[in-house]
Amino acid sequence: MDKVIVCPVCGEGLFKEDRTFGCANGHRFDLAREGYLNLLRSSKKGDTVGDDPAACRARRELLNKGYYSPLRDFLCNKLSGRSGRLLDICCGEGYYTSAFAGVEGLEVYGFDISKEMVRLAAKRGKGRYFVANLAHVPVASGSFDLATHLFAPFNAAEFARVLKSGGELFTVFPGARHLFGLKAVLYDRPYENDERLPSAEGFELVGTERVKAETVIEGNGDISALFRMTPYYFRTPPENKKRLEGVESLPTELEFVIATYKKI
Ligand SMILES: [Zn+2]
Repeated sequence: MDKVIVCPVCGEGLFKEDRTFGCANGHRFDLAREGYLNLLRSSKKGDTVGDDPAACRARRELLNKGYYSPLRDFLCNKLSGRSGRLLDICCGEGYYTSAFAGVEGLEVYGFDISKEMVRLAAKRGKGRYFVANLAHVPVASGSFDLATHLFAPFNAAEFARVLKSGGELFTVFPGARHLFGLKAVLYDRPYENDERLPSAEGFELVGTERVKAETVIEGNGDISALFRMTPYYFRTPPENKKRLEGVESLPTELEFVIATYKKI
């Protein structure tokens, strides 16, 4: 029996039988050809949740060019020397997750709500990947030593549930000047991001660190893919979105704040 992953319907442990995982109550989940497990309960099965396949691939291609490698390398460095089971919440197409899985001593589990993102993540070949609802991650309580959480909604109660006592949570959110170059094109009066930390009941804040870089995003395809990755994509009026058309080179700052929490 898998002691980490539980049935998303009834919470019982899952047993592996060939290409299927099932619980004692008869709920069954198929292992996909790429090796990920779809644990979504809804009839949609993740096909229509999240970005469309073309947007997922564009994101993968953008990340593969290394614009965000300073953040990836910082996190891998932070994780090296630690050991045990790591949960990457909202793993996307696995750019960071697969790098974490390359750190010696870590057993890495990536979860995302988007089936297409998880499919691409599983193809990267490192770590174990799952499609699931992240409001209640289908894993046993207290089964993880470490958790990473990048640019996703913060759910203190759920993160505390999945971690062991004393377990560490690394959460990444955009720093004040992150993507300021992009905002300078989109908006007449670009504003800096608010760096307020989330309320993290059940955790003790160990400290915060910062990663800054300056980069130039080349090509309108990559600039569009970057824009789609941001919350601005959903907030920007159509007439402002048009300002990115024909932009082939975008200098911008990147800035990330990494907060380390310990579960009390
Ligand atoms: Zn079940």
